[in-house]
Amino acid sequence: LLQDHQLHAAELERTFIAIKPDGVQRGLIAEIVSRFERKGFKLVAIKIVVPSKEFAQKHYHDLKERPFFNGLCDFLSSGPVVAMVWEGEGVIKYGRKLIGATDPQKSEPGTIRGDLAVVVGRNIIHGSDGPETAKDEIALWFSPSELVSYTSNAEKWIYEVN
Ligand code: UDP
Ligand code: MG
Repeated sequence: LLQDHQLHAAELERTFIAIKPDGVQRGLIAEIVSRFERKGFKLVAIKIVVPSKEFAQKHYHDLKERPFFNGLCDFLSSGPVVAMVWEGEGVIKYGRKLIGATDPQKSEPGTIRGDLAVVVGRNIIHGSDGPETAKDEIALWFSPSELVSYTSNAEKWIYEVN
């Protein structure tokens, strides 16, 4: 059935979202969680951790040739980070839309970075940029047992299922 298929797809798509140390220190955890929650996405994992520098380097390994790599990894490991996994139909791409452009000077108003950040090196949030990175980042930050599968009561009001 198409409806079964739609619900299945919504359950399967997951993305990794992290509130960086600047977002945590600025008291923006609830604000950011709320934007994903109100949209209709489902929180399936959350924890607060201080990543080591080595861990930050793994997380950002794709950027290791960039001039800002070292400073970026120092910053990510400088304090508490809120690591999350969000689930829902289109959550990877739309999560990036909620977050806004990498440089907050270019992020649209209404986006998390557009509304809440000013410079690229303090842009408060990370989100996976595609299905492969989402899979890798979820596996890096969480063990499978930390991911909670459940049916939200609201799902039948968010998706076209009965
Ligand atoms: N970054 C930076 N200077 C730059 C580009 C990126 O400090 O010129 C930082 C910024 O915090 C960004 C992170 O590096 O969020 C990862 O860069 P990426 O291009 O993956 O941006 P994102 O996926 O976070 O939008
Ligand atoms: Mg990125």
